[in-house]
Amino acid sequence: MRRVLIPEGNKAIIEIIDKPKLGYGEILLKVAYCGICGSDLHAFKGKHPFVPLPATPGHEFSGKISLIGEGVSEFEIGDRVTVEPSLVCNKCYNCKSGRYNICSELRVMGCQGDGAMADFIVIPANKAISLPDNLSLKHATLVEPLAVGVHAVTRGGNLLNKNIVVIGAGMIGLAVLICVVKAGAKRIIVTDLSDDRLEMAKNLGATSTINVSKINPVEKILSEQPHEGIDVVFECVGIEKSIRDAMDLLRKGGRVVVVGVFGNEVKINMANVQDREQEIIGSLMYTRSDFIKAIQMITNASFPLEMFITKTFPLEKVEEAFRAALDTKTNLKVTFEINKEN
Ligand SMILES: [Zn+2]
Ligand SMILES: [Zn+2]
Repeated sequence: MRRVLIPEGNKAIIEIIDKPKLGYGEILLKVAYCGICGSDLHAFKGKHPFVPLPATPGHEFSGKISLIGEGVSEFEIGDRVTVEPSLVCNKCYNCKSGRYNICSELRVMGCQGDGAMADFIVIPANKAISLPDNLSLKHATLVEPLAVGVHAVTRGGNLLNKNIVVIGAGMIGLAVLICVVKAGAKRIIVTDLSDDRLEMAKNLGATSTINVSKINPVEKILSEQPHEGIDVVFECVGIEKSIRDAMDLLRKGGRVVVVGVFGNEVKINMANVQDREQEIIGSLMYTRSDFIKAIQMITNASFPLEMFITKTFPLEKVEEAFRAALDTKTNLKVTFEINKEN
């Protein structure tokens, strides 16, 4: 079978390997679609802080169950599923308290574990989730990034009637936006470098947008009267400028939720954290309840899901697909169609 391999930075190839063997409690999934995530791109560039190369990428995927291992009773062959890609120990402090997304032994399919840009992948059956009939396998690849948004927004606290800034309108920023809208925020400002993405943000419910290549977002937001203060900023980019902007925007006692993946160490003004009682908290992945919520949101979406998937490639065009995904001016979500849904 075919599987994508990133052997070294800036290179992606297809390796031909044997179909993986099934163990107890596992299922073999015939992958239908797999999206390219920002973190796959970090890995492709050899810049992901937690993904050593060589790596087999891919964790936003869907497919049909092809084989069922011993001890699995909840699925049948042919079932359509998506997969929560976290692999956890179920024994550590965080696993026991329900926060298995930060398991001390956390591994992620397509990061430290086998990736899903492949014809088949073996997964623990308890990580598969059946899809509603009216959700296509292609659109089901959007569940994973939306679940990141669902979780990030729970980390933001109660957002009802709050003033929010979302920095970055990539797939994750837009996923956060969708959830912030749902949470009943009052004012939602989205910033990005791309007018096209900001247009999408408007269509998804942003109350205003700022193109940071033209306007200084901190000056602009702080000068708007009456300025009520920004309660929560979601940082969805992962660079020094955006975390510094986030902290400058916050009212006293406000919170920054760090969702972006930082490839480099950054400098921030810690004095403000103390003096203004600012909170900086991280958000990683999701747990099952976030994932289920994301499936429901995608299935009942009031916006066209097709707008997120800007390009689809067959697996053989792996290098081309990664280059397309790197072109964030043109593309939002690039997806592999690996085995067509029939
Ligand atoms: Zn992802
Ligand atoms: Zn654990």
